[in-house]
Amino acid sequence: MMTRTATLVLLLFAATAGAQSIDYDPRRPAELRPCDDHRYHGRVEQARTCYAKLLESQTPIVQAEAAWAVGDIQRANQIFRDIVQNNQHAVQPRVRWARLYLQTHQYSDAVEMFGEALKAFPADAHAKLGLASVFAERFEGQARPLVEDVLKQDGDLIEAHLLTASMDLEEGQLDDADKALDRAMRVANKEKLPPLEVYTLRASLEMSRGGNPDQWIKRILDYNPRYGAMYQQLAHFEIMRRRYKEATVLLRRAVEVQPDLWAAHAELGSNLLRLGNVEEARKHLEAAYSGDPYSPTTVNSLRLLDRINDFSISEDPVVVGEDTYQVQLRLHKKESEVLRPYVLDLTSRSIQSFSQRYGFKLQEPVTVELYPDHDDFAVRVAALPGIGLLGVTFGYVVAMDSPSSRPTDQFHWGSTLWHEMAHVFTLEVTDHYVPRWLSEGISVFEEWRTGPTPGVAVPPEAIAALEKKQFLPVADLDSGFIRPSYPGQVQVSYMQSGLVCLFIEQRWGFEQLGALLRQFDGKRTTAQAIEATFKIAPAAFDKEFDAFVRNRFANVLANFEEWQQKSQAARQAIQKERWADAVEPARRAVALYPEYVAGDSPHLILAKALDKLNRRADAIVALEDYRRAGGWDPTALRELAGWLDAAGRASEATDLMISLNYSDPLNAEVHSQLGERLLTAGRNEEALREFQALLALNRLDEAPAHYGMARALREMGDKAGSRRHLLDALATAPHFKPAQALLLKMIEERT
Ligand SMILES: [Zn+2]
Repeated sequence: MMTRTATLVLLLFAATAGAQSIDYDPRRPAELRPCDDHRYHGRVEQARTCYAKLLESQTPIVQAEAAWAVGDIQRANQIFRDIVQNNQHAVQPRVRWARLYLQTHQYSDAVEMFGEALKAFPADAHAKLGLASVFAERFEGQARPLVEDVLKQDGDLIEAHLLTASMDLEEGQLDDADKALDRAMRVANKEKLPPLEVYTLRASLEMSRGGNPDQWIKRILDYNPRYGAMYQQLAHFEIMRRRYKEATVLLRRAVEVQPDLWAAHAELGSNLLRLGNVEEARKHLEAAYSGDPYSPTTVNSLRLLDRINDFSISEDPVVVGEDTYQVQLRLHKKESEVLRPYVLDLTSRSIQSFSQRYGFKLQEPVTVELYPDHDDFAVRVAALPGIGLLGVTFGYVVAMDSPSSRPTDQFHWGSTLWHEMAHVFTLEVTDHYVPRWLSEGISVFEEWRTGPTPGVAVPPEAIAALEKKQFLPVADLDSGFIRPSYPGQVQVSYMQSGLVCLFIEQRWGFEQLGALLRQFDGKRTTAQAIEATFKIAPAAFDKEFDAFVRNRFANVLANFEEWQQKSQAARQAIQKERWADAVEPARRAVALYPEYVAGDSPHLILAKALDKLNRRADAIVALEDYRRAGGWDPTALRELAGWLDAAGRASEATDLMISLNYSDPLNAEVHSQLGERLLTAGRNEEALREFQALLALNRLDEAPAHYGMARALREMGDKAGSRRHLLDALATAPHFKPAQALLLKMIEERT
C-alpha cells in the first residue's frame, strides 16, 4: 500500500536560499558537519562550495541535505522521497523531509509526515519535536505536553529546551524562560552545538525584561555576522507584544545583515502594512515573493495591494474639547458612501468617550479599514495569535470586517469597531506594553459599558468554564489567549478578562481600572501590577474575583440544567405555536440567566409568545429587557420599533431604528423609513444623512432619495440645494408626483 506521503507533491522552487534552522539531531551525518560549521558561522561561499561537493555523495541522505542547503529544494525533495519509499523504517530522513515541507509553508503535509514517522517509531524524540514546533508556531495547546513528554524521555535535548523557552517568552513567563535557557546553554556547551538560537532567545528575554540585549546581539554577530534570523526572532516577540514599530526596526536590520532572508522580508512587508506604510510594504513583499513565491501570506498580501485602488480614503477631523484629531477611513468603493457617515460617527464618539475615560490624548491620526472580503482582512492578521476573528488593532490602525462581509444578525460591526477603538487607547496609553488579557478585557468591558450594545452579555461557554473551574489565575490569563489548552478557551478568556475589569470597577471603582492599566510600562508583570494597584497578592485577587463571578452568576450556576430545560421547553412550545405554554418556561429561563442574548435567547421567545397572546405591552417590556442585557438582533429590534410606534412612543422607536445602522447599515428600507421619521421629528440633518445613504444604496430608483434630501435641505434653509435635488428626482422619474408638487410650491414661494 502506498503511503500518503508518497503522493505528496512539493511545490517547485526556482531557488530558495538555505534559511534553514539548525539541525540538532545527532543522527545528522558526520560528512555534513564541516559544511554546517561554515553555514552556522555565516561563511556563505565556503558553505556553498562545501555542500556542492556533497551533491555527489554515495549516501542519499547526505545528497538530500546538500541539495537542500544549496537551495535545490526540488532535488532534495526527490531524494528524500526515494529514501522513504525504499525504506519504510527510515525515520530520520522522514523527519527531515517533513522539515523541508515546513520550510515551504506546507504545514498540514508536514504534520502528516511527522505523524507517519511517529506511527513507525512512536518514541522518536526528533519527530515529536518537529511536530511540537508546528503546534507551537500555530499557537496550538498540544505543543507543551508534547515537549514535556520529550523532555521526560531525554532531558538533554536542546531543541526541547529552546521550544519551551520560546513558548514561555510568548506567554510572558519570563522566569521559566530563563531556566529553560540555562538548560539549553548547558547542553550546547556540553555537546558543542552552535549557540546561536540560545543567544537569540537570551536577547529576547533581555528585551522582554525591558533590558538591553546588545551583549547577546554582539555575541551572535561575532559568531555569525549574517545571522538575520536573530533580528527576525526578536521582532517576532515584539509583534507578539503588539509593538509593531519596534518590530519594524528589527526586521529592517534582519534584511540588512542577511538580504536573502525572504521570511524576514515577508514579515517586514506585513508589519509595514500593519503600520499603514503601503509603498515600502510592497517593496519588501515583492522581494520576499522573488525568493519564496509560495508563502500564502506573501501572495495574499500582494493581492490585497493590487486591489488597493478598490478602496477610497477619506480624512476627517474629530473635535474633542479643545483638541482636534484626524480620522482616516479606508472603505471599499462599493459601500464607502453608505458606510462613511456611520463609521465616522462611531469612531468620533469612541474617541470622545475613551479620551475622557482613560485620560489620554491620541498622538497620531487613527486609520479605520473595513474589508467586505474577509480574506483581505485575514491577511492583516496572518500569523498573529489569539486575535479576534472580526477585527484587529495595530496601534493607530484598526482593520476589521465590513458589515457586508457577514450576515447582519451575526455581526454587530458597531460593537466590533467600539471594541477595536478601545484597543487603540489601551495600546497607546501603555506604549503597547499592556498585556493581552487587560487590553481584551477593557475592550470587552467597554462594549458592555459604553458601546452601541451596552449590557453584560456572557455566553454559556463562559458559564460552563466557570462551573468547571477553568478560569485562569489573573497572572496566567494571557496564556488562555496565546496557546489555548481546550477548544473555546480563547473565547472564554475574552469573557473572563471582561469580567475581571467589571470586578475591578465594582470593587475598587472605575478609576482603579485606569490606574492598573498605567502600571504597564514594560517593567512590570501582571502579578506586580495587581499588587501595586490593589495592595493585595494576585492569589487574593483571584479569590475575590472568583467569589464575585460566582455570586453574579449564582442563579445560572446553581440551575444550569433547569435553564437548559426551560429554554428548550419554551423553544418547543413556540415551534408548535402553543404561545401560552412558552411564557412560563421562557420567563424562568430569562430570570435564571438574563445575560444570554444570542439568536435563540429566551428573551426573544418570551416577547414573541406575549405578542401572540395579545399582551403587547408585556412583549415590549420583554424586548426592552433583552436590549438592556445587550441583545441587538436587527429583526427583533425592527419589530420592537413597530410596537413602540403603535404604542404612541414614536421618538423611542426612531432612536431604536437609528441604532440599527450599527448592525444593519446596508438596508435601504431602514434608511427610507428613518429618513421620513426624522423629517417628521424635525431632525433634519439626521434625515438628510439617511436619504443620502438611501441614494447610495438605491441607484436604480433615485427619485425617493432625492425627494427626501430636497425636503431635508428645504427645512434646513438650503433652498438652492433643495431645488437641485427636486430636479434630480424629476430627471430620473418625471412623473413623480410628490416632487412635482413640492417644486411647484417652491416656485410659487419665489413669486
Ligand atoms: Zn480585541
